[in-house]
Amino acid sequence: MSAYKLLLLPGDGIGPEISAEAEKVIAFLSQAGVAKFEIERGLVGGAAYDAHKVAISESDMALAQSADAVLLAAVGGPKWDGVPYNVRPEAGLLRLRKDLALFANLRPAICYPALADASSLKRELVDGLDIMIVRELTGGVYFGEPKEIVTLENGEKRAVDTQVYTTHEIERIGRVAFELARKRRNKVTSSEKANVMRTGYLWREVITALHKREYADVQLEHMLADALGMQLVRWPKQFDVIVTDNLFGDMLSDEAAMLTGSLGMLPSASLGAADANGKRKAMYEPCHGSAPDIAGKGIANPIAMIGSLGMAMRYSFDNAKAADAIDQAIAGVLGKGLRTIDIKGDAPSSISTSQMGDAIVAELKTVLK
Ligand code: NAD
Repeated sequence: MSAYKLLLLPGDGIGPEISAEAEKVIAFLSQAGVAKFEIERGLVGGAAYDAHKVAISESDMALAQSADAVLLAAVGGPKWDGVPYNVRPEAGLLRLRKDLALFANLRPAICYPALADASSLKRELVDGLDIMIVRELTGGVYFGEPKEIVTLENGEKRAVDTQVYTTHEIERIGRVAFELARKRRNKVTSSEKANVMRTGYLWREVITALHKREYADVQLEHMLADALGMQLVRWPKQFDVIVTDNLFGDMLSDEAAMLTGSLGMLPSASLGAADANGKRKAMYEPCHGSAPDIAGKGIANPIAMIGSLGMAMRYSFDNAKAADAIDQAIAGVLGKGLRTIDIKGDAPSSISTSQMGDAIVAELKTVLK
């Protein structure tokens, strides 16, 4: 078994606490012979600023470039509010995404049956929900030029953002979605505003052609982004994989995450282009931030972080056995009623970060027996 090169970036706030729990899982998987790791550690965000006055050092960027995957916990916090803009904690994240060319953001919205009552929707609408939002991450209106605010002759100001997509950008994100669907329930919903936007028109045309040419075995539907926003709260279980642009993906993935009632439990993956050997640069991280309000108290929920490790096992290391085991172990501890404070609800008590990590490792032992 060859070793997976994993760069761990614990970052700030609760980052190091939840990262330590992911390391327990890594140690267990190695010891159980399910996976072999070569672990490097680095600094990102405020931690990198404190040490080197940058948001991520060149040597840590080099480690990220040579790793099979990066596992990042979270960055940021009030301590670094006043640091120069170009070295603020988030700049570390953006540099990683940009330099590794991570164009595909995968955000699952999973509703564990044990937590269905935490959703703002009725239990029957979300119980067992499992959808994957694939958001284009490096193009579209956040990056298109011109992007400016100009003062007109009459003294009024005019702001411009430009939505741009090329065939190539749409095809490569479409491929990620179709490939994922084949490993799931084989359905892709592609979303844009083809009725009012030229980029939406091209998006639909390119996805339709790609589907016909290479993925005719996958069920494809097109849905306008506003209708999709509505359908997500009306009947979310109709979806499997949703693929959409940067702006719509930003909004729809947050909406989908909230359906699960547990934003703090959700992992994410950002993937780059496949090389000649089919390998992609990749970064995995929880959807939540560094939670400075609870940092250092030992009460953060490590599940999104451990779930992110699970996604790395599935998408970077092609180790479905380990990924499935992690998913089952998370569902298992929740099924037993174990809760950290953020998902406590009406439960009589809650457990600490490290108790949750230990419980997941104990459950993994049973799952992998
Ligand atoms: P946040 O996600 O850090 O926290 C929001 C709320 O959820 C807080 O009450 C927090 O205690 C709680 N929470 C989050 N994760 C939790 C966990 N694992 N267990 C228990 N409770 C959890 O968002 P915020 O408060 O808006 O941002 C805090 C800092 O994080 C800011 O500096 C922000 O810029 C940064 N941030 C970083 C990322 C990232 O690293 N990808 C993402 C979002 C925000």
